[in-house]
Amino acid sequence: MAEANASVSVNGRAYSFVDHTFDVVVVGAGGAGLRATLGASEAGLKTACITKVFPTRSHTVAAQGGISAALGNMGEDDWRFHMYDTVKGSDWLGDQDAIEYLVRNAPAAVYELEHFGVPFSRTEEGKIYQRPFGGMTTNFGKGIAQRTCAAADRTGHAILHTLYGQSLRHSAEFFIEYFAIDLIMEDGACRGVVALCLEDGTLHRFRAAKTILATGGYGRAYFSATSAHTCTGDGGGMVLRAGLPLQDMEFVQFHPTGIYGAGCLITEGARGEGGYLTNSEGERFMERYAPSAKDLASRDVVSRAMTMEIREGRGVGKAKDHIHLHLDHLDPALLHERLPGISESAKIFAGVDLTKEPIPVLPTVHYNMGGIPTNYHGEVLNKVGGDPDQVVPGLMAVGEAACVSVHGANRLGSNSLTDLVVFGRAAALRCVETVQPNQAQKELAKNAGEDAIARLDRLRYANGSTSTAEMRLKMQKVMQSNCAVFRTGEVLDEGHELIHQVWKNSDDVKVTDRSLIWNSDLVETLEFENLIVQAVVTMDSAQNRKESRGAHAREDYSERDDVNWMKHSLAFIDTENKTVKLDDRPVHTYTMSNDIAYIEPKARVY
Ligand SMILES: Cc1cc2nc3c(=O)[nH]c(=O)nc-3n(C[C@H](O)[C@H](O)[C@H](O)COP(=O)(O)OP(=O)(O)OC[C@H]3O[C@@H](n4cnc5c(N)ncnc54)[C@H](O)[C@@H]3O)c2cc1C
Repeated sequence: MAEANASVSVNGRAYSFVDHTFDVVVVGAGGAGLRATLGASEAGLKTACITKVFPTRSHTVAAQGGISAALGNMGEDDWRFHMYDTVKGSDWLGDQDAIEYLVRNAPAAVYELEHFGVPFSRTEEGKIYQRPFGGMTTNFGKGIAQRTCAAADRTGHAILHTLYGQSLRHSAEFFIEYFAIDLIMEDGACRGVVALCLEDGTLHRFRAAKTILATGGYGRAYFSATSAHTCTGDGGGMVLRAGLPLQDMEFVQFHPTGIYGAGCLITEGARGEGGYLTNSEGERFMERYAPSAKDLASRDVVSRAMTMEIREGRGVGKAKDHIHLHLDHLDPALLHERLPGISESAKIFAGVDLTKEPIPVLPTVHYNMGGIPTNYHGEVLNKVGGDPDQVVPGLMAVGEAACVSVHGANRLGSNSLTDLVVFGRAAALRCVETVQPNQAQKELAKNAGEDAIARLDRLRYANGSTSTAEMRLKMQKVMQSNCAVFRTGEVLDEGHELIHQVWKNSDDVKVTDRSLIWNSDLVETLEFENLIVQAVVTMDSAQNRKESRGAHAREDYSERDDVNWMKHSLAFIDTENKTVKLDDRPVHTYTMSNDIAYIEPKARVY
């Protein structure tokens, strides 16, 4: 329920707030946000969930492959095997206490989803069906595990719809199509968040004992991303502006075959069925880069080879900036049977009939390993003085927005959906432990939220000479060519110059619509402000890390260097002067319990 109105005045213009008080405010209604909302409201905490899109339109809906958990339904499995794979996949950058928490809680989380009503595919005996996935093994790398639980190829869709239905059973209040602008910080603690109702232009101040950011990834900092246009990492932007750090931002996972321009995913299965890549000379270039695995080499190898071809002028198309994926030599009946979804995506998003023409593709951003640093309870961490694990009072983060860090330098496929529900639940449990229902909260300062409104007002009346769309495109092009899969000191130094230039010039933005109601120009500008700061810290963290680890592969430092670099990168920004400060945090080289010992680093094998 809304309380009395408060108002602030910026630049001679008065803005009034509708005030709300909750025990817990969750920003985001993807898998992570909904699981946290459900857990907190079920326990009797007065909970709000704010979301800029309708909950079931969150990017989680697009997840296809599945959710990992060592259920052992289709053969031998053990959470210890899952732990080993996740640590190895993370290239020893993951925090092993958090990884233990993830994999041990994964089976219960999947059964819980089953009981909530997720229509998992079934085995003959009626158990949850599990498929093999890259990097998932048994017996510490010896066998192939079937660990990824799937609801056909619509697992994210099934999970998101089920969680939304469950959330509505309790008393959580949903604020749908509300855009969170900034955190309300007071003496280093988070007191809530300021949001704009997109439908009627009203401004809202949410006061909460705990604010949980579940705002997803920032894939849209790049030109080509498999994620939705709404994946603009708003929570990360808010955290940076609050003077808090983001962690491991240089680790960005690329998928080789996103559709050029649209970025929609063309599954690896397309190459599995016999598809191959060609450059402008019609050459099957993967034969040069990976003579035995060819087009089915691992994701990072294929993505790097494609990028090299484009950089050396052998890209296809007018701008010579993409690659062709051929399926036109395959039997149309096979394509229809095994890849019906892909045929449809190619038609809709590239306008090609893949039985006759190649699909234009580009290595495409797929997942952000970096994000808001947290412990495995979902509490946000800051590095203060000598303490790298200091909890920020009142602030939590979960899902792709967060960096727990269970994925370290590289996420294994199907581990993200697990991350969402395990840590969404963990955050809710922490709230239940630390917050009393309806507990008294200190009054907010009269002008709390004024900074957020000043920023909104500045952008609303911005009258420079460059449109938001032009600026965003510049940023996306720089990130795509200078901070993608091909990384050298030279490319990153140039990228650093170019991306800082885009950031510096962002004051020149022009917004044409001055209203507050359904103003997509303004909202996209707020999103751009969130993206550009994350683009900058991604570039600077990549420039700084002089080794290759997981998704961060440098041509000039091709080895992993555990002596100097087995540590998390931290990046802070100075908003006023538009500068970045880098720091680091130790990796947790201990497990959560005594049931498994710390897994010592091993050499990388490709
Ligand atoms: C095409 C694709 C396929 C994938 N397949 C798999 C798979 O098979 N298995 C797997 O494990 N992982 C997969 N992933 C990764 C995984 O789906 C994502 O990492 C995960 O869904 C992210 O969930 P989330 O809850 O953190 O955020 P999201 O689902 O992205 O939701 C973010 C939420 O935050 C809200 N929000 C954001 N900013 C604001 C703001 N300013 N104000 C208010 N609300 C805001 C949005 O409205 C939304 O509700 C896939 C990803 C993609 C893109």
